[in-house]
Amino acid sequence: MRSATERREQLKEVYGRALGCTACPLHQTRTTVVFGAGNADADLMFIGEGPGANEDKQGVPFVGRAGKLLDTLLEEIGLDRASVFIANVVKCRPPGNRDPHPEEIESCHPFLRAQVELIEPKVICTLGNFSTKLLRGDPTGISRLHGQDEVQTIGARAIRLLPLFHPAAALYTPSSLQTLRDDFARIPALLAAPPLPQPHLADEQPDSPQSQPEVEPETDEAIEVASEQLGLF
Ligand code: URA
Repeated sequence: MRSATERREQLKEVYGRALGCTACPLHQTRTTVVFGAGNADADLMFIGEGPGANEDKQGVPFVGRAGKLLDTLLEEIGLDRASVFIANVVKCRPPGNRDPHPEEIESCHPFLRAQVELIEPKVICTLGNFSTKLLRGDPTGISRLHGQDEVQTIGARAIRLLPLFHPAAALYTPSSLQTLRDDFARIPALLAAPPLPQPHLADEQPDSPQSQPEVEPETDEAIEVASEQLGLF
């Protein structure tokens, strides 16, 4: 089990790699890499789709209208951004807010895998179709799954997964806003649930996440500056 400091340091290392990533075409049009933000030692992780225009400018996930709604919903269950970790399926903005392409999702997946592996959350809430389908490895849509928690083995660990409507969808449909609020209300009980039995870990369990893209990491200084400026981890 990693300490909070180890998680933070290893996450910064992954962040450094993401800052220099050119693995898919999205690097050509991004302003910033929106790696994720929050507490590296969080029990609860949210996974959205990808940065929009505001996120691309600021380098922080969910800072636009959908993000404000996410803040409100968190507050309603007694949480805030500092107590959770928020990430996206793709770390760079798809131009014009189009859907991320399958090959972009695939090339970014190692970063998300590393984030989940290092943070070791008890509960993951997927926001919308893209993260739900990716984490479940199944094409079933969010309308059928939202609000129903399930146990998923992600990487080496069993995690409680709660698919939720994307807050951006809830902004446009009042009935889904109420549904999202009702589904959010389930989160505290999931966080308080007893720890899940974990699958047997292989003896040669690596210390740091594997299968990261082959990219040149940024310098320590660049990572430190970016992390501090964005209030990450
Ligand atoms: N929508 C997302 O899925 N992620 C963000 O960071 C912002 C909007």
